Amino acid sequence: MIRILNFIDGSFQEPVSGLYLYNMDPSRGEVYGEIPDSDERDIEEATKAAAAAFPLWSSTPATDRFHYLMKIAQVIRHRMDEFAEAEARDNGKPVSLARAVDIPRAISNFEFYASAALHFASESHYTEKLGINYTLRRPLGVVGCISPWNLPLYLFSWKIAPALATGNTVVAKPSEITPMTAHLLAEVAQEAGLPKGVLNIVHGLGSKTGDAISHHPNIKAISFTGGTNTGKRIISIAGPMFKKLSLELGGKNPNIIFADCDFDEMIKTTLRSSFANQGQICLCGSRILVEASIYEKFRSTFVEKVSRMQTGDPLLNDTKMGAVVSESHMNKILDYIKLAEEEGGKILCGGKRVVHSGILSKGYYIDPTVIEGLGQECRTNQEEIFGPVVTIQPFNTEQEALQFANATPYGLAATLWTSNLKRAHRMAEQVHAGIVWVNCWLERDLRTPFGGVKNSGMGREGGFEAMRFFTEPKNVCIQYE
Ligand code: NAD
Repeated sequence: MIRILNFIDGSFQEPVSGLYLYNMDPSRGEVYGEIPDSDERDIEEATKAAAAAFPLWSSTPATDRFHYLMKIAQVIRHRMDEFAEAEARDNGKPVSLARAVDIPRAISNFEFYASAALHFASESHYTEKLGINYTLRRPLGVVGCISPWNLPLYLFSWKIAPALATGNTVVAKPSEITPMTAHLLAEVAQEAGLPKGVLNIVHGLGSKTGDAISHHPNIKAISFTGGTNTGKRIISIAGPMFKKLSLELGGKNPNIIFADCDFDEMIKTTLRSSFANQGQICLCGSRILVEASIYEKFRSTFVEKVSRMQTGDPLLNDTKMGAVVSESHMNKILDYIKLAEEEGGKILCGGKRVVHSGILSKGYYIDPTVIEGLGQECRTNQEEIFGPVVTIQPFNTEQEALQFANATPYGLAATLWTSNLKRAHRMAEQVHAGIVWVNCWLERDLRTPFGGVKNSGMGREGGFEAMRFFTEPKNVCIQYE
């Protein structure tokens, strides 16, 4: 049984309550650890430590901040296998995926924002017959970072790195469902010699620990990634306190496939964009819209390949599909599959829990599932399922594809498959999404803005967008003419 602690003011501390929560291994369906059941008293301690560290950290030269963040990246790289295994065990994702994507990306986040600390600059405006206006950008103070379970370290570091790079001090809360790599990050921060109080990591439930971050008057901004309803709750508390908010929320992304696409490439990528991380990536395309003239061909090829995908032990190197993250999430996904049938959908493959033998027999596995025959209005096509479940639907015209694509309250990402350049530009402009991939999926240049429209959130992460979020601009106007 592994017991982890909070990381506050540079040291590992028991929660004030003395209480702990169980941490589950979803691939085995068993408890394997304990995490602090923290409350507002732990957040108070963490915020005090962060506030005390702020004057020194915010005046630390950018070159020194660069070195600290690079050192963190270096230590994570050095401990890559340990991090990848911890992520796979906590989350149920294949260790090969954690090793290829999650942990390297967390390293890149620290390296990218280390370098951003050196390159970030603000504007100046020459004003005729007056002089000059320039923009000062200063860190905000203590900021809160709250992240979800699906890409635990990847998304945690995506917030923490720019917050630290801009000179803020941080109170961070990882998901209580996947706390392990956040704990390892605390060890790394210590090893890298990050001054005490600069990064504080508090574990616990969203409704208690997360809520205390929203309420704390000295936490000036919150960068949050998670569900849309949680985002609403955070706004309702932090909005009236005028905290700066960046909210990356749910999605129901369309994958729009035109007959003129490169079929083989599209199929290969669509398998990934549907089922990578068991479909638990906010950017997965869960509504596959296919031009009617190739619908039959798409359906038979896709379903045949999906039927051959198998779940297995995430800790084995050759496993491609692991477990979903928790029992309650598994039941939620299975309920949606039942709902899809009630709504008139036809299950083309999958549709059920997989019960493995031996040590995996209590694990949370679901066969990748493809459903057809559902219209736009049904709940299956409107609500985020966040699992290995996609619907497929034919469309006849570009206009109809666009109408289907935009028919949900969400607007995070969209994928387009076409070789018609003009159409690609037209569609990319009109689809309701913060990110549009054309003939690819999940390609990321960390300089680009990341985020969604409508119920998928507000604000953008990525590149200098995050550096701007974590700083307060002040205009200084100097008359000299
Ligand atoms: P969640 O909203 O339940 O939890 C996210 C985090 O918020 C966790 O750390 C949780 O403890 C905390 N939290 C919960 N209630 C809180 C409260 N009242 N106050 C403050 N914090 C609270 O989401 P989840 O189930 O962990 O993650 C899945 C969701 O995240 C999906 O909707 C998915 O689309 C979304 N997501 C979005 C993006 C994006 O970039 N837009 C990326 C990944 C995941």
